[in-house]
Amino acid sequence: MDPDNCLFCKIVRGDLPSHAVYEDEHTYAFLDINPVSRGHTLVIPKSHAETLTEMDERETQAVFRTVRNLTAKIEAELDPQGVNLLQNNGDAAGQEVEHVHVHIIPRYPNDGFDFDFEQGSLDDDEAARLRDALQ
Ligand code: AMP
Ligand code: ZN
Repeated sequence: MDPDNCLFCKIVRGDLPSHAVYEDEHTYAFLDINPVSRGHTLVIPKSHAETLTEMDERETQAVFRTVRNLTAKIEAELDPQGVNLLQNNGDAAGQEVEHVHVHIIPRYPNDGFDFDFEQGSLDDDEAARLRDALQ
């Protein structure tokens, strides 16, 4: 993806409007245009990266520092009863904008937002294979 054509790069450059709530050297945060709850915010690195693992160490640290600090601000100002973080990578994960972003989703009673998925069970053989692969 050419940063010239990237929606969120255009927002960072100011070529497209956004409701910014925070900005520093490496990160930019703005209100999601189609919020799933009050205060739904997106945090992005200023330099273009498509997915989480395309960010370098410095950008990754900066993004998650901003996520943490903005979540604290949201908790203080909007008084949610909880907060979900959501970060989609790739088509199969539902990523629509190809510039890495972390959703901060404040949660309120009866806000209508739901993670509806079924969980399986992990058997010992599979657990051993996964540990071998991932350790
Ligand atoms: P994802 O499905 O994780 O890629 O999420 C993309 C998010 O970007 C969605 O929640 C959209 O509502 C949001 N979005 C798309 N365009 C804009 C925009 N111009 N300003 C703010 N948020 C946007
Ligand atoms: Zn971009």
